Amino acid sequence: MTTVTAAEAAYVVAALLFILSLAGLSQHRTSRSGVVWGIAGMVIALAATVGLASRSITATGLVLIAVATAVGAGIGLWRARVVEMTGMPELIAIMHSLVGLAATFVGWNGYLDVDPGLSGSLLGIHHAEVFIGVFIGAVTFTGSVVAYLKLSARIKSNPLTLPGKHILNVGALVAFVALTVAFVARPNIGLLIAVTVVALALGAHLVASIGGGDMPVVVSMLNSYSGWAAAASGFLLANNLLIVTGALVGSSGAYLSYIMCKAMNRSFISVIAGGFGTPAAAADDGEQGEHREINAEETAELLRDATSVIITPGYGMAVAQAQYPVAELARKLRERGVEVRFGIHPVAGRLPGHMNVLLAEANVPYDVVLEMDEINDDFAATSVVLVIGANDTVNPAATDNPASPIAGMPVLHVWEAANVVVFKRSMAAGYAGVQNPLFFRENTQMLFGDAKQRVEDILRGLDALDAPVPEMAGTSR
Ligand code: NDP
Repeated sequence: MTTVTAAEAAYVVAALLFILSLAGLSQHRTSRSGVVWGIAGMVIALAATVGLASRSITATGLVLIAVATAVGAGIGLWRARVVEMTGMPELIAIMHSLVGLAATFVGWNGYLDVDPGLSGSLLGIHHAEVFIGVFIGAVTFTGSVVAYLKLSARIKSNPLTLPGKHILNVGALVAFVALTVAFVARPNIGLLIAVTVVALALGAHLVASIGGGDMPVVVSMLNSYSGWAAAASGFLLANNLLIVTGALVGSSGAYLSYIMCKAMNRSFISVIAGGFGTPAAAADDGEQGEHREINAEETAELLRDATSVIITPGYGMAVAQAQYPVAELARKLRERGVEVRFGIHPVAGRLPGHMNVLLAEANVPYDVVLEMDEINDDFAATSVVLVIGANDTVNPAATDNPASPIAGMPVLHVWEAANVVVFKRSMAAGYAGVQNPLFFRENTQMLFGDAKQRVEDILRGLDALDAPVPEMAGTSR
């Protein structure tokens, strides 16, 4: 068997492993095996690619590949080991930026190093591939860098609203089409520089125009773009595996974006077009009345007297790493006969499934963890809701204030419960930068402080309530 045939066979195996990996990753229970399939596929793909390359490059070239692989693998392992769960979206965003940058370089290389065997319409197709690869790659690169800056709070998450922003986006697309036609007719470096600059600017502008509340969709959309960028590189390099893998990532990312848009009641086209059609509402982070405070002991008393409790966690639970005492609190209350359930918003936290993973880590049984749609009608019959580090996902402004930047986004109807206790450290706004009228409602009380410490205080409060107190004997509440 020749090296080429062996490599092509290995590529087919790797592609099948990637498909198995995606299937495994679609469910909690099989996600670990999904990761293992993915790793196996990538090892085979890398080995086959290096094997193929070894036919035509020098020993120095092979050493350079080995060094680059070692450096890349070292950085990847180090980042994956040290990244906090809450930092995953920005890590993913910065990795997408590298895919975009690589696709841009591959495109440029395709222009600088044209196969002398190409002529006529094949050469025209090659030049179109160069342009499309550079365009998608550069949009993905700057879009991902801006997403990284927003997600890591290095720049504000508010949408950028330049005058005529939609005209700028459409103008960039028209310029891309016109430049492509010109480049295929007469390839020259000036046109390639022009399309690179237009694409870099478009990527940055598209993502900068999207508000904080819609960032989850942007992350999965950039995932999709990075897949298409890789597929474009696959065409240029005549590498079937890169085409298949890029198409898998591109289509699954696009489908995830679509599902998330539906879950958040957002128009898919509007989000991918940089907020097209959404009103440029101003973020309102001012206070909206008086809030009431509660302490941990009083919360313990409230919970002792409750018959049903719903816990709605959010990003703050992840920051505080409060999932373990929260799971312990749920267990204790259930032992006392209180009905305890968790209500999970589809974009709670900073990545899809974030809360489910944390609760599974703390061994909360799956059957008490319900999705928003399964639990939203039950709040009205609930004694106490504990909002643990969630903010945008429980904001009633989404349902009753059409001018709010998060208007129309489905939220957990926590305010319908008899009592709501909100755990957070201050009156600061959530990720979308919008103040939350929930905090000023009559049935809401704020429990300030780090969520983990406050939940631990409540656990101690419940123990103290249980402990027999001789001088209080005979007194009943
Ligand atoms: P939010 O970001 O709206 O609110 C989190 C709250 O947690 C804040 O109000 C903060 O208040 C509080 N908090 C932070 N640290 C602590 C702590 N140590 N102890 C107690 N409270 C704490 O979170 P949600 O989960 O409600 O909403 C998610 C938001 O993130 C949405 O806007 C969503 O669109 C966006 N997003 C989601 C992604 C996803 O895929 N899930 C990806 C990217 C963005 P304070 O500072 O006062 O403590």
